[in-house]
Amino acid sequence: MAEIQLRNISKRWGSFVGVNNFDLTIADKEFLVLLGPSGCGKTTTMRMIAGLEDTTEGDILIGGKRVNDLEPKDRDIAMVFQSYALYPNMNVYENIRFPLKVRGTDPSTHKERVLQAAERVELLDFLDRKPAELSGGQRQRVALARAIVRKPKVFLMDEPLSNLDAKLRVSTRAQIKNLSHDLAATTIYVTHDQIEAMTLADRVVVMKKGVVQQVGSPTEIYDTPANTFVASFIGNPAMNLVDGVIEGGVFKAQNSVIPGLDAPDGPVTLGFRAEDANVVESGGEINAPIYTMELLGDATMVSVRIGGALVAVKADKNYRAEIGDQVSLHVHTDHCHLFDATTGERMG
Ligand code: ATP
Repeated sequence: MAEIQLRNISKRWGSFVGVNNFDLTIADKEFLVLLGPSGCGKTTTMRMIAGLEDTTEGDILIGGKRVNDLEPKDRDIAMVFQSYALYPNMNVYENIRFPLKVRGTDPSTHKERVLQAAERVELLDFLDRKPAELSGGQRQRVALARAIVRKPKVFLMDEPLSNLDAKLRVSTRAQIKNLSHDLAATTIYVTHDQIEAMTLADRVVVMKKGVVQQVGSPTEIYDTPANTFVASFIGNPAMNLVDGVIEGGVFKAQNSVIPGLDAPDGPVTLGFRAEDANVVESGGEINAPIYTMELLGDATMVSVRIGGALVAVKADKNYRAEIGDQVSLHVHTDHCHLFDATTGERMG
């Protein structure tokens, strides 16, 4: 069992708080993704779990055992970094073998285990090459093979795909998901890419400035974001967020009158996704000039401006109009989200 418990862990440097009171239990074999913008504390959280960084406060338990005072090498975890961290003077075989040597694993098993790991990530043809003779994708696979070779209970991956081009990122992402499923290890994966988070995670933790904003399955985070930060961070395009007021169940903002919203009178931020509205001939709740149009292939994205906000709506792929043309948008109120205008927290 490799359940990981983070009990109110914090990291401070002087008065600066890198991670604040992170409290979460990660189930055995779970794939947990830490997601957030640069500097939100994802890497620091990961480094505390790995033992590369002390915790200022709180306890970390792996498999029920407190590990705060254990050296990284004694925590039974394997890490994969964005930078790959391969040894340049060793060939692929020796790089993959390295963790077995360091831990004093029976040398008679090394060859079989290295070959197994190399086969798993399709590197058997490259065993004699040095890292400098490999592509970025191949280097990342060496790093993956090195992580899986000793069958750790816990995998920590810090932005492992961010140095790969878009196409390779998609195929390596699929490979990581498949590997982690096969190996049945508990995985914590750091990224600032919401698509990676949504596609890989059993649960996502969204962080901002060292503070956890929401923990949930990708569907929960997408369908019921806890606040405007999460709402605007998840989904492509980001959720439309419009500031306005509720008056007698009607949302009002520039160019917008949207009835049927159950909230007390007062200022509010209305959220809805591009797919939760459509272009109509006339009589929609939002009527405004088109700000821009983007052809996506399977749909046409139509954007208007309301107050300071850009509002994007998915129209039929054959929809055509000109910038500046007046457009009418029908908003599906049963898919609308309401957030407190001051705190940004979800209402109701
Ligand atoms: P990125 O995606 O850019 O890697 P991150 O979410 O992983 O960002 P962290 O590396 O965890 O962010 O950093 C969190 C905050 O802590 C940042 O503001 C960073 O500047 C700060 N920080 C990190 N290490 C130290 C340190 N040794 N001393 C002081 N501040 C630090």
